[in-house]
Amino acid sequence: MPILSPFTDDNINLHQLSVLQYGKCTLCGKSLVQGARVYAGKMNDGSYAIACDDCKDRIDTPLSNYVFYRQEAEMPDKDVKLWRYQDFSKFVSLLDSGKLFFTRADSFDDPFECAKGFNFQKDAIYAEMEKYLRIKVTTDLKNAGNNNPSNDEINTALKKEMDAMIKQQGEKRKAYFVSCWHENERESEGMWKLYTSALSEGVAVQTTVERLCRSLKNDVFEIGKVNYVSYDKPLNDKQVPVWYKRDGFAHEKEVRVVIKDATVTETGMPVAADLDTLIEAIYVSPTTKPWLAYLVRKVTLKYGLDKPVNYSQLNETPVY
Ligand SMILES: [Zn+2]
Repeated sequence: MPILSPFTDDNINLHQLSVLQYGKCTLCGKSLVQGARVYAGKMNDGSYAIACDDCKDRIDTPLSNYVFYRQEAEMPDKDVKLWRYQDFSKFVSLLDSGKLFFTRADSFDDPFECAKGFNFQKDAIYAEMEKYLRIKVTTDLKNAGNNNPSNDEINTALKKEMDAMIKQQGEKRKAYFVSCWHENERESEGMWKLYTSALSEGVAVQTTVERLCRSLKNDVFEIGKVNYVSYDKPLNDKQVPVWYKRDGFAHEKEVRVVIKDATVTETGMPVAADLDTLIEAIYVSPTTKPWLAYLVRKVTLKYGLDKPVNYSQLNETPVY
């Protein structure tokens, strides 16, 4: 995986930087260790560093340190173009609120959001959970002073933990809030049709991975590519379900931003974003009338954003 060069902008949130670094020490390039302390700071040349324990003394101006958790998803390169196709009304709502709407994982149309597999694979999924829980309950019993727990004692404790775990599984996905983007160098005819209710009133916001990361005012999030899998086998314990979808959705080429927050009870979370940073360009759909394209540009300017509004290249005149 590529290592991204550090940002030099003073506004960049340090957490974002660490996310953008693919979990490598920016000074020596070694992989940061999950759960180990990492050190953030500024270098004399104006760049930021997220350093491993060996390199921490090389940081010119130390700023903070924290426990490192590597995100599971693969992050696209920072210059990759991302698109969000929507109706004009949703676009105006974005301009007006200055907030990106994150949908709670259980509120998507796809019931498989955050699923580990199919219902018929339940036994295999639960067996996997049981393996891990057996170790946990045995350790718990020992910690409680029972140094040699009998099989019966383990099984009773295990059953209790399993019942609780199974109950929690569906609830767990309510802690994930997701903003979905489509990765593509160019416009996609299919996405216009999928994500606008009236094609002629479609507006697409085009950003980049870097712009998206820098625009978000929430300081803790993850960004990554969705993995499309067949679910021939259910996901294993190391695969975090929010980063997986069935391969029937592969055409969506989705990059998502995920915020985990179990304290929010609403079905969505508006997250403040700097729109001037976020929006690189705006596109109107192939069937948009000129008056609406003009209106999109005019409304965008009214909200203080001077962004190019492009006509869809998909309706250029062909040569035969
Ligand atoms: Zn290092």
